[in-house]
Amino acid sequence: NPADVPGLPEGVADRLLSEGIEELYPPQAEAVDAGVTTGESVVASVPTASGKTLVAELAMLSAVKRGGKALYIVPLRALASEKKSEFERWEELGFTVGVSTGNYESSGEWLASRDIIVATSEKVDSLVRNDAPWIDQLTCVVADEVHLVDDRNRGPTLEVTLAKLRRINPGLQVVALSATVGNADEIAAWLDAALVDSDWRPIDLRTGVHYGNAITFADGSQREVKVEGKRQTPALVDDALAGDADHGQGSSLVFVNSRRNAEAAAKRLGDVTSNHLTGEERGELNDLADEIEGVSDTETSRDLARAVRKGAAFHHAGLAAEHRALVEDAFRARLVKCVCATPTLAAGVNTPSRRVIVRDWQRYDGEFGGMKPLDVLEVHQMMGRAGRPGLDPYGEAVLLAKDYDTRDELFERYVWAEPEAVRSKLAAEPALRTHLLATIASGFAHTRSGLLDFLDRTLYATQTDDPDYLAGKADTVLDYLERNDFLTREREDGDVRLKATGLGHTVSRLYLDPMSAAEIVDGLAWADENEREMRRRLDGSASTAEAAGASEREEPSGFRTASEMVADTDSGDGDGDEGEGDGEAYESDRTYPTPLGLYHLVSRTPDMYELYLKSGDRERYTEECYEREAELLGRTPSEYSDTQFESWLSALKTARLLEDWANEVDEDRITDRYGVGPGDIRGKVETATWLLGATERIAGDRGFDAVAVREAKKRVEHGVRDELLDLAGVRNVGRKRARRLYEAGIETRADLREADKPVVLGALRGRRKTAESILENVGRQDPSMDDVAADESTREAVD
Ligand code: ADP
Repeated sequence: NPADVPGLPEGVADRLLSEGIEELYPPQAEAVDAGVTTGESVVASVPTASGKTLVAELAMLSAVKRGGKALYIVPLRALASEKKSEFERWEELGFTVGVSTGNYESSGEWLASRDIIVATSEKVDSLVRNDAPWIDQLTCVVADEVHLVDDRNRGPTLEVTLAKLRRINPGLQVVALSATVGNADEIAAWLDAALVDSDWRPIDLRTGVHYGNAITFADGSQREVKVEGKRQTPALVDDALAGDADHGQGSSLVFVNSRRNAEAAAKRLGDVTSNHLTGEERGELNDLADEIEGVSDTETSRDLARAVRKGAAFHHAGLAAEHRALVEDAFRARLVKCVCATPTLAAGVNTPSRRVIVRDWQRYDGEFGGMKPLDVLEVHQMMGRAGRPGLDPYGEAVLLAKDYDTRDELFERYVWAEPEAVRSKLAAEPALRTHLLATIASGFAHTRSGLLDFLDRTLYATQTDDPDYLAGKADTVLDYLERNDFLTREREDGDVRLKATGLGHTVSRLYLDPMSAAEIVDGLAWADENEREMRRRLDGSASTAEAAGASEREEPSGFRTASEMVADTDSGDGDGDEGEGDGEAYESDRTYPTPLGLYHLVSRTPDMYELYLKSGDRERYTEECYEREAELLGRTPSEYSDTQFESWLSALKTARLLEDWANEVDEDRITDRYGVGPGDIRGKVETATWLLGATERIAGDRGFDAVAVREAKKRVEHGVRDELLDLAGVRNVGRKRARRLYEAGIETRADLREADKPVVLGALRGRRKTAESILENVGRQDPSMDDVAADESTREAVD
């Protein structure tokens, strides 16, 4: 009973009882017995949906009661806001909650006043690097989905961050929540924590494989699900919706291996779900579909709306966040009957379903060069989404087999298999590069032996049988960091003294991969050199001696004079299929470096996820590359050095996407042209904005010209051309509205403060609320639109 839990603040037990939590689930009770509410560290390795979040809440609330502060680390940004709203119900009892997302390189001082803080591991890492003043007040840290330390990209950050937090505060309570994994005991040993290892679930989970006309479950029982000329997935979705006499309709969650497949499957499954809708549901689904179309005017948006009208939906990382939230809510409300998702949905977001269908258990893996089976852990997490406590009699999770042998293989591989052990990925060089520099820059280590000492506190160290391996790797990385001017090394009494340089400190605080920073420094130096050279030539003042000096340095291969360059860029729109009026022709603003050059520079850093080249792209971007070579800030690699040339081109593809965005090309056209989703555009734009902000800082520090960088950054941030920058920065305006206002003669914020209201309203298509809030945001004294007559306001819009 919650009332018997020691250490809880007053009111918590009552509140839980009022939510229907009358008894702790067995793993929760075990965690309490292990001291999770009295300050003890605990690793809880339990299945999805078995109440891990409550364990964390009990720990955090009791820690705050003892006079401390708690931090909840989430693996994904989308989860940060979800968790925050979950925790906000404790504000009633006087606890304050804050979420730290958004930009790196801030110390989030306002969070000092919060009892409970939610943040991603990258954000926490960044807060530590920027000396957030409240970090040393933390007494309790929760690591959600701690099994993700195994993740090649993000795992090391969580691992190092936990090590740092424990170093800052040796008495820190760590509560680590994990899916059921093969070696939870090792994680517990690493964190000096008690272990709760359980496979208890609040609702029965039946797992099995569908083959022929039946599902065979792990216990040998079968359920007939006839295919009758359909494919397996529609048959299973149909069967769940038909339900049974006692429990009625059940929804399905279908996991597939790509976004495209998710969209295609949702389209097909709509024909199944639409047979199971009531008239009332159709009405609600139509409203929802309209709302979805209202979010953005894109192909994805329309496809999603079309599926939703029929009671099905897709869900993947290419969707806009608003779309994802609408789909999740409607699925939880049982309005949408079937969601086809990529595995990202399995990680975290709480969307239980009567039936889970794992349609694809293989996925294309670029590094592997072919289809690769998913990890057991991943498939188990998908399966764990089956069954809604209190709503379903049980959950069913089904894999699909086309033949007898595959059926046996799937039982062996997934149904009966134990999940893999979690292995630290810290020794991977990109991870070490970033984290060793940050560890030194933020003062966790001042010498080589101090650094190795620190590394000794990581999971990696507890898992390796070759302690010298990590030391060897660390030395390689230190060589690299020294060579690129991020740190200095000095021999000192049998040890080596390590000191971050100014650049090293900046890079660590900006949260850049040092390799990105090195690329940026080179690109800026290239631009600087090129510009001087251009000026020398234009001035015609280059003396023979200087010219000789200049040519000693390797001359940029693509070098041309400024006027040649501008002439080139005038016709630089390599895209013949576009009409005029799309705002597409490349403008020769005479700045150097050009926005494209800068976008290409940041796009080729390891901090920007690559856009892959699709068929035809190689030719297309090779051509563009030569057309616009003079703008690129570095030497184009030889076409014969295959991988380098290929990444140079895919960076160009990304850069062209960003350039289109900054030239006000429609979102829809961009998604089409680059084969990405609207969510990807936002992602790229956000990353580019961050990297260009960092570039601006580095340019300033190193004495390079930062004006062009700032301009290129602002344009991509707001997605507008130069002339709209002032307007687009006003909250609620955005790129499209800024353009319409501009065309109505309102060119600046000052204009907006003075403009005739009917003109403003007309440019905003008669939306009064929007107009008022915009006028308010720009600081107009009388933002009200009440005095504008209805016919006046629609005048322009009708035109
Ligand atoms: P996890 O974090 O393990 O995936 P959640 O914490 O999201 O699982 O819990 C799933 C659901 O179970 C939530 O809706 C939660 O309110 C509910 N729940 C948690 N603990 C209890 C309990 N002891 N009794 C009843 N319901 C509970």
